[in-house]
Amino acid sequence: MKKDLMTIENLKKYFPIKTGLFGKIVGYVKAVDDVSFSIKDGEVVSLVGESGSGKTTIAKCLLLLEKPTHGKIIFNGYNVVDADNKRLRNYRRNVQAVFQNPFLSLDPRMNVYDIISEPVKTHIKISRAELYNYVSKILEMVGLDESFLYKFPHELSGGQAQRVAIARAISINPKLVIFDEPTSALDVSIQAQILNLLIELKDKMNLSYLLITHDLSIVRYISDVIIVVYLGKIMESGLSEDVFNEPLHPYTQTLLSSIPDPFTRKLRERIILRGEPPSPINPPSGCRFHTRCPFVMDICREMAPPEITHKQDHKVFCWLYVKK
Ligand code: SF4
Repeated sequence: MKKDLMTIENLKKYFPIKTGLFGKIVGYVKAVDDVSFSIKDGEVVSLVGESGSGKTTIAKCLLLLEKPTHGKIIFNGYNVVDADNKRLRNYRRNVQAVFQNPFLSLDPRMNVYDIISEPVKTHIKISRAELYNYVSKILEMVGLDESFLYKFPHELSGGQAQRVAIARAISINPKLVIFDEPTSALDVSIQAQILNLLIELKDKMNLSYLLITHDLSIVRYISDVIIVVYLGKIMESGLSEDVFNEPLHPYTQTLLSSIPDPFTRKLRERIILRGEPPSPINPPSGCRFHTRCPFVMDICREMAPPEITHKQDHKVFCWLYVKK
């Protein structure tokens, strides 16, 4: 059985809404509201949901770009949220990120060699002579040859630039890489190449991935586990094949209705959601999805649904599955 690499417990991120000269707090944007899940060694976990669901804020909390309002991020047995500097350094080495637009994440003044060697020099003891070979080898692993070493980001195509961003992320042998919409800025033909590269690197380096995306066709292709989020809360989670085979939550069913069935390749009956997602400043009472759910019942408006285990590792938060 695979070991937990990272466990997220009751994570909350509330952004204060301030007003007036003295910045009085008049409310909070509840971007992430009590989210718990874990990522195992060598596993690909995908967080899916519409924009505004809180998935990117979760990623920012895990990357320490945002301080959680509440909750724990357990990594290697310690809580990262209140870890000392030594542990934080270890965490930063082991958890790397690749963002949507490589041209925004790569420093335009640095060439490929400097971009990749910068984290290596910080985290790995290596001589100057060895560094060149090391960087060349990393570049080769992402499918680029030495002729790219001294190019600058503006001289690269979108796919090549994303390969450099991936090379930088894997250069210091992390355990987990967080990808925020890694292919959505790329042409469709390049997307498949990048996904194949990610699968190859994961197997070769025994990496774990957390993939943040709204693109369910990618999720189906690469994920072991899917977590569906809506308005800062988890709606459903489970093994990829279970969620695709038998989506339980009405929100998951809606998301999956927009792509062909993975087994029959036939289009499912398209479910169109009513209205826009409500504001996370004042989320709906009870089940957060109730204002858009075609199956809403009275209890859904009053009480948040409990977590129901459908089968091992396939869980849903919905009153439809509570046995009467
Ligand atoms: Fe719909 Fe109620 Fe289930 Fe929420 S709990 S998804 S409103 S049926």
